[in-house]
Amino acid sequence: MKLPKDVANYVRKKVIKCVAIFSVLEIIALLTVVLSWKYFAAETNPVFHTIFILVLCVTPFLVTKFPWSIIDKSWNGIVTEVYVKDEMGSYTAFKGGQPRPYPKYVIYLKVKTDSGEEKRIAVREFGLRVHVAFPVPNEGDVTKHVDEYSVGDRVYHFYGLKHYYIEKQSFDMVECVVCGTQNHKDRDDCIECGHSIVK
Ligand SMILES: [Zn+2]
Repeated sequence: MKLPKDVANYVRKKVIKCVAIFSVLEIIALLTVVLSWKYFAAETNPVFHTIFILVLCVTPFLVTKFPWSIIDKSWNGIVTEVYVKDEMGSYTAFKGGQPRPYPKYVIYLKVKTDSGEEKRIAVREFGLRVHVAFPVPNEGDVTKHVDEYSVGDRVYHFYGLKHYYIEKQSFDMVECVVCGTQNHKDRDDCIECGHSIVK
């Protein structure tokens, strides 16, 4: 399965942006190290100077998550299990208030990839969140949505994209691989971000 042209462009731009921001930050860090070398060598002790250099040079990696954010691989496979996990979350309703627990249900798929690997992926999140002291539903009731996924569905992960394209046997909605919004599979572009729907 091939990615639509505009989505492939989106991924390319994302990768280029990550490399560019990393490079600019790292150049600034290195220039600062070189230009301030004399001053720090004369005015501070070697331990402080070394820590200063390390922090400057490591920060661009932490900010851009480079190179981890661009190391990825496309894969596809078949769903072998659909399950829901209750992952308790917490939420602070008021400033200084006690964090209160709220339910968070996540739909997981166990996928066997064509290369024989087994993966567990989180596809949807449901639960209640507390808004101004009132619990409000967040994405609705998980039991009404878990049946949208079934064993035998084919899952596609594309390089650089967070959301999966899932060929569902028992449901007509598909997730947009760019923003994750549910769209009817007959649509050509996403109602939310406008990128093409994978077919
Ligand atoms: Zn979208």
